[in-house]
Amino acid sequence: MAYDFDLYVIGAGSGGVRAARFAAGFGAKVAVAESRYLGGTCVNVGCVPKKLLVYGAHFAEDFEQASGFGWGLDEAQFDWPTLIANKDREINRLNGIYRNLLVNSGVTLHEGHAKIVDPHQVEINGERFTARSILIATGGWPQIPEIPGHEHAISSNQAFFLKELPKRVLVVGGGYIAVEFAGIFHGLGAKTTLLYRGELFLRGFDGSVRKHLQEELTKRGMDLQFNADIERIDKLADGSLKVTLKDGRQLEADCVFYATGRRPMLDNLGLENTGVKLDRKGFVEVDELYQTSEPSILALGDVIGRVQLTPVALAEGMAVARRLFKPEQYRPVDYKMIPTAVFSLPNIGTVGLTEEEAREAGHEVQIFESRFRPMKLTLTECQERTLMKLVVDANTDKVLGCHMVGPEAGEIVQGLAIALKAGATKRDFDETIGVHPTAAEEFVTMRTPVAG
Ligand code: FAD
Ligand code: NDP
Repeated sequence: MAYDFDLYVIGAGSGGVRAARFAAGFGAKVAVAESRYLGGTCVNVGCVPKKLLVYGAHFAEDFEQASGFGWGLDEAQFDWPTLIANKDREINRLNGIYRNLLVNSGVTLHEGHAKIVDPHQVEINGERFTARSILIATGGWPQIPEIPGHEHAISSNQAFFLKELPKRVLVVGGGYIAVEFAGIFHGLGAKTTLLYRGELFLRGFDGSVRKHLQEELTKRGMDLQFNADIERIDKLADGSLKVTLKDGRQLEADCVFYATGRRPMLDNLGLENTGVKLDRKGFVEVDELYQTSEPSILALGDVIGRVQLTPVALAEGMAVARRLFKPEQYRPVDYKMIPTAVFSLPNIGTVGLTEEEAREAGHEVQIFESRFRPMKLTLTECQERTLMKLVVDANTDKVLGCHMVGPEAGEIVQGLAIALKAGATKRDFDETIGVHPTAAEEFVTMRTPVAG
């Protein structure tokens, strides 16, 4: 049977665009449907605008520290609408770039909501198209627990478009988004409280990293409340919000921001017309080749719920395009040693195993740790400290994990990730000459283990 397309991609986000462009480059006839915004979550309401706001928030410290270097500044003023308008302009520019990338690589772009009507057919804007393969790349959506008054809360989707900076913000959650946005609001001058239901935020990160960030955020004056959860939210006559916690305490805020994870975006996608199965958590179930239980339908990125990061969605997109249209070049995505950063202030950068994971996996470990006041701060009042940590296998000398909390941690860890992927040992680290004077050189000068 002749199909309209070899591949019909639903979702022009990180993974969908990558798969569509490369498939078209390999000679396939490809269409991509997008209902909302070109570039998906990362470009529009994720990585990119988030990082721009983090840069904005960081200026507060820069201004504070500048006086130690002899600069005199009049009182700094911050204008949220300017930051948001400039951010929006940049995102519009990126949307245009994504459009050109798709069109110039020969992909047909359909703008609208796509629904799968059978395993080889998609309906969009009242038209139907057939395809040999359909790729579900529809991403995720913020998930807010349905507590009384949840309609008064916002998620990251709205936070990027607030008309004004709230004076008092309650951020709920203890993952990437909660920690990053708490840093943004606090840095920009809002009175910020972070509420997390567990003992300590950032579950899954190295214990030293979690503790160190807790100390640093507390030093900066952020109100961290652990073992705390919201029971209900009530809107008061003056527009502010009264928040009642499960332990009976009450807090007031102008904005309650939930960052409690993301669900797969499957709304009105027509999966009931297919044999696609979902996993226990509701994400699309795929095999190691991204094939769903319906042979003609594949899925990747946030909607499969493996690792919700843009570079992972990109790698999966590339793997799918190769697998379908250039099988001789197919290489599976390696999910080990994925470096990641949390753009909190200060940043976290991490790659490889945490100390807890390494011990649990049965490694006999040596731990190297360094805590120091960055040189840039020595002329200032700022008492911020940086943490660097190496987790080493005591028997093979292999470095199993690198962890950092401090300025530019994400930038530093990217290079270390290459070393770890190449199987670097602690001896390789020791024999590497440092770049002086930098903070990063500390990673090659830690000599004495703090724990074994
Ligand atoms: P998405 O990028 O979400 O794309 C899915 C697309 O499908 C969307 O454009 C959507 O509109 C479209 N769509 C959905 N349903 C349909 C339909 N039926 N028809 C047509 N179109 C449809 N990752 C990082 O690596 N670094 C970061 O710093 C980072 N920061 C983040 C900050 C925030 C606030 C958030 C929310 C996420 C962040 N992420 C970050 C995660 C990253 O954005 C995602 O992992 C990534 O975007 C996933 O790509 P994707 O292709 O799976 O889906
Ligand atoms: P995460 O899964 O990272 O964190 C969710 C947090 O919410 C956890 O602390 C969780 O607690 C808590 N939580 C979950 N359900 C509830 C509930 N019902 N009530 C109270 N608390 C709850 O999700 P995010 O929303 O922060 O981010 C989604 C994903 O996007 C991330 O996992 C990451 O993959 C990606 N991302 C990446 C970024 C980056 O690379 N810098 C930045 C932002 C997002 P508990 O730990 O107890 O389960």
